[in-house]
Amino acid sequence: MKRILITGAAGFLGSHLCDRFIREGYKVVGMDNLITGDLKNIEHLFKLKEFEFYHHDVSKFVHVPGQLDYILHFASPASPIDYLKIPIQTLKVGSLGTHNLLGLAKSKSARILVASTSEVYGDPLVHPQNEDYWGHVNPIGPRGVYDEAKRFQEAMTMAYHTFHGLETRVVRIFNTYGPRMRLNDGRALPAFIGQALRGEDLTVFGDGSQTRSFCYVDDLVEGIYRLLLSDYHLPVNLGNPDEITILEFAEEIIRLTGTNQKIVFKDLPKDDPKQRQPDISRAKKILEWEPKVSRTEGLKLTYEYFKNLPKDELYNSSHRFDHVKATSA
Ligand code: UDP
Repeated sequence: MKRILITGAAGFLGSHLCDRFIREGYKVVGMDNLITGDLKNIEHLFKLKEFEFYHHDVSKFVHVPGQLDYILHFASPASPIDYLKIPIQTLKVGSLGTHNLLGLAKSKSARILVASTSEVYGDPLVHPQNEDYWGHVNPIGPRGVYDEAKRFQEAMTMAYHTFHGLETRVVRIFNTYGPRMRLNDGRALPAFIGQALRGEDLTVFGDGSQTRSFCYVDDLVEGIYRLLLSDYHLPVNLGNPDEITILEFAEEIIRLTGTNQKIVFKDLPKDDPKQRQPDISRAKKILEWEPKVSRTEGLKLTYEYFKNLPKDELYNSSHRFDHVKATSA
């Protein structure tokens, strides 16, 4: 039986990856410091003997006893609101955390896949974005703490590959949605669905003409699974190329939820990318992968999840990690 370590296991993507690898017959070791992750996302796994969990911050030295065949590094805050609240932790988990996990992978002779992001392209001047584009990033803007940590992560991962001969994989993840997204993480989809469910107006930032391309989580997980098992070490974009403006997206959520609320416009956050669409030719060729779930279908499944959440979660807008800010970063 293969054994895999998944960091960020209690998060949105991490928890879906835990489910997938358990289903594929792996022993899964989950790790999370639970700052933005939530144990409820993986509670159903604790009864399984194939699953173990470590409550640990990977920015500090990581030790896992026993054999490890694979590591998936998915620990990181991943929304602009989080970066503003915990910028230093965001920088540390992408840089120091990645370094610790690369070291662990080397000591265990494990293959490691790191979660990078479309944010390495910044506010892109090339459209759609392919993997050869170097990006357009503001290092000292509000998103810089995430973007630069992820760019450092890629550099460090490539260095371990070339210098130590480590087996590495790099996925650049574009906007992904689905059940278990945090309702209050500030992202467009949970924000809009949460507002619709609470009977509030939907807040579109700017004039809503900025675009994104949203991928359903099951499609993304399939791509990550294939990439891990492939023999390809250069970065691979994974996302759904179906591009939409944020205003159209908000209108879709209004139709989906049947809310009578309207759209209100708020200031566009600084450095908010104007357009984003993955060029997935590389993933198609190397992984024979492309997304299968349409936005209509994916949004329906996601809405089901949010609709069934306990009511108090809908109204609890505080962040579990508000206390972290005061502590040493
Ligand atoms: N957005 C919005 N209203 C919200 C939350 C987000 O209009 O309540 C916009 C945001 O400014 C961005 C887009 O939706 O242009 C996607 O935002 P998200 O945070 O989901 O992802 P990212 O900007 O990281 O791609």
